Amino acid sequence: MGRTVRDGLRLTAEQQQFVELAREFAAGEIRPRARAVDEADTESPLDVWDKASGLGLTSFMIGEKFGGGGVTDLLTQVLVQQELCHGDIGIGNLITSNGFFSAPVEHLGTPEQQDRFLSPLGTDRPPLTAVAVTEPGSGSDAASIRTSARRDGDSYVLNGQKTWISNAPYASQFVIFATVDPAKRSRGVTAFVVPRDTPGLRVGPPFQKMGQRAIVNAEVFLDDVRVPVENRLGDEGQGFAGLMRTFDASRILIGAATTGLARAALDFATDYARERVQFGVPIIQHQAVAFRLADMATRVDMSHLLTVRAATLYDEGHAVAQESAMAKLVGSENAMWCTHAAVQTLGGYGYSREYPVERWMRDAKLEEIEEGTSDIQRLIISRGLGAR
Ligand SMILES: Cc1cc2nc3c(=O)[nH]c(=O)nc-3n(C[C@H](O)[C@H](O)[C@H](O)COP(=O)(O)OP(=O)(O)OC[C@H]3O[C@@H](n4cnc5c(N)ncnc54)[C@H](O)[C@@H]3O)c2cc1C
Repeated sequence: MGRTVRDGLRLTAEQQQFVELAREFAAGEIRPRARAVDEADTESPLDVWDKASGLGLTSFMIGEKFGGGGVTDLLTQVLVQQELCHGDIGIGNLITSNGFFSAPVEHLGTPEQQDRFLSPLGTDRPPLTAVAVTEPGSGSDAASIRTSARRDGDSYVLNGQKTWISNAPYASQFVIFATVDPAKRSRGVTAFVVPRDTPGLRVGPPFQKMGQRAIVNAEVFLDDVRVPVENRLGDEGQGFAGLMRTFDASRILIGAATTGLARAALDFATDYARERVQFGVPIIQHQAVAFRLADMATRVDMSHLLTVRAATLYDEGHAVAQESAMAKLVGSENAMWCTHAAVQTLGGYGYSREYPVERWMRDAKLEEIEEGTSDIQRLIISRGLGAR
């Protein structure tokens, strides 16, 4: 099980129970499958998804009135996310991925829309969903999207191309961000829920990736896709604000996921260093190795505490763009550092696929890129200091 971070939190019995459920599922069902999922390359482990669904782990963040677990506080979500991702970050992120879809629906949707789009996710066997923002010509600058939404009577007609969309090959519904007027930049961005079987929506072949292969990514092509006005989330031009609110929470969850990954690397490297003997002593007795482990432990705590702070402030209703960016930035860079350090601690074995640490190093890299690169997180933090 490894080391737990002492954070001073007093969890309720219910929170504790849920975190323990996630910890057991991670050890028993996630970690043992991780290598095979990595080697399968472009297939999500839907059997693990189904098992997790049976225990409520894929829908705990969906409101009770939609059949979900109703764990709507971000702090509990963060603690669960960390445990799942201690098992494997790719599979952990897959298990909670419907939370990325439900967030803009909750932020922007009417009660009727929330019921229509979220109720399917609160069942025992929920389908996967996806959120499509990124385009071939629009990544960090999300306000520059070109996918167009043209009003035509009681519907909109969507045209464009999305890329890198997580879960696209499996998703039953997409939240698609389009623009009613590209000249308006962020003030033109508008969100729509588009069912997968809508004529004109096509998903491309799966991408081959460096890591986190449990989630499959692909392009989404929109060719005269007609969406009824009832599927527009919020008013025209409100999509960008809904997306930023979604990122406020989802970046904190990335902080949690990367803390879980960094903790896994620390636990594995520590156990190895206690066992492996060189120059007549376990290598942990060599100060260079011990100090590297000490730095890893310190970084794990740093990531965890920043994440807990951001989630606590979020739950109290504060604006958290800065704290959320810090949690993601520090979490992802510490996960990169710690997985690299774990490879180093295992020496040649660290470089072998027989051990998980090389895979964890590949997995970590993604979190410095998706949902805003580290540069973009620094941009957000520096704006809070007065930079333009
Ligand atoms: C595995 C994976 C899953 C993803 N899942 C999804 C998904 O489900 N839905 C979705 O919509 N998108 C998804 N994405 C897309 C992801 O959010 C983008 O890749 C990310 O936002 C970066 O955009 P980009 O790749 O176009 O890079 P670019 O924006 O082209 O950036 C390239 C480089 O320039 C730097 N840069 C750009 N602008 C600035 C600036 N102003 N200041 C300093 N540096 C800057 C960046 O930091 C980066 O180093 C996913 C990506 C990956 C790899």
